[in-house]
Amino acid sequence: MAASRLQIFVERHRRLFVLTGAGCSTGSGIPDYRDADGRWKRLAPATYQDFMGQVSARRRYWARSLLGWRRFRGARPNDAHRALARLEAMGKSELLLTQNVDRLHQAAGSAKVIDLHGRLDCVRCMGCGGAASRDDVQHELSRLNPGWLGLDAASAPDGDADLDGADFSSFEVPACRRCAGVLKPDVVFFGESVPRDRVAAAMRHLDEADAMLVVGSSLMVYSGYRFVETAARAGKPVAAVTLGRTRADALLSLKVESPCEVALAFLL
Ligand SMILES: [Zn+2]
Repeated sequence: MAASRLQIFVERHRRLFVLTGAGCSTGSGIPDYRDADGRWKRLAPATYQDFMGQVSARRRYWARSLLGWRRFRGARPNDAHRALARLEAMGKSELLLTQNVDRLHQAAGSAKVIDLHGRLDCVRCMGCGGAASRDDVQHELSRLNPGWLGLDAASAPDGDADLDGADFSSFEVPACRRCAGVLKPDVVFFGESVPRDRVAAAMRHLDEADAMLVVGSSLMVYSGYRFVETAARAGKPVAAVTLGRTRADALLSLKVESPCEVALAFLL
């Protein structure tokens, strides 16, 4: 059985560098971006260049986010998050590096976490660098756009909602209160790079680990894939729990194709 091979993998290694992705949070009601072949399930999300360059892209983003945030902020950790928190409590986790922006690992009790792609509960001003909480921005979005509040839409990844076909031209996007600059969620957008010091900090932990465990990521994005590449180059075995194809299939020493919370149940 593949799952028991995963248990042996975890027992055999002293310190694991854990990388998690969207598949970890689907059990909490946050949808995944990609299908089993790693293709987009819906229109690709806005790029950094679109968001910063076009007010229409910002209107579309915030209108969808106004509706999507309500469900996103109510999401709770599932057994996959709890199993990985347990792994840390057992002293087996060197670092949990997550591509998720939902903070559900922290909510489940993991403390040694780096949010590779940032966190959606924070918003940053691209003008003055000031920070705001997403809840405050939600309040402002609601105040400026009362007519949009009654709309309902299916949840999409990253606190987004499916609202395609809507006319966003009347949507009011809030600006920074201090400098009127562009507000952007404190997450790494497509087309944007992960801050270099964040990558370097994670790489130092990878150096201390003797194996890597990927949970719920197809590794299609280079920002996560490069950690598998680095582990493999250093001769560290890599196991992955994920549904479907990953970009790193050729580099894996063990692959378990089942839902994360099922594959990791032995930790609970
Ligand atoms: Zn500002």
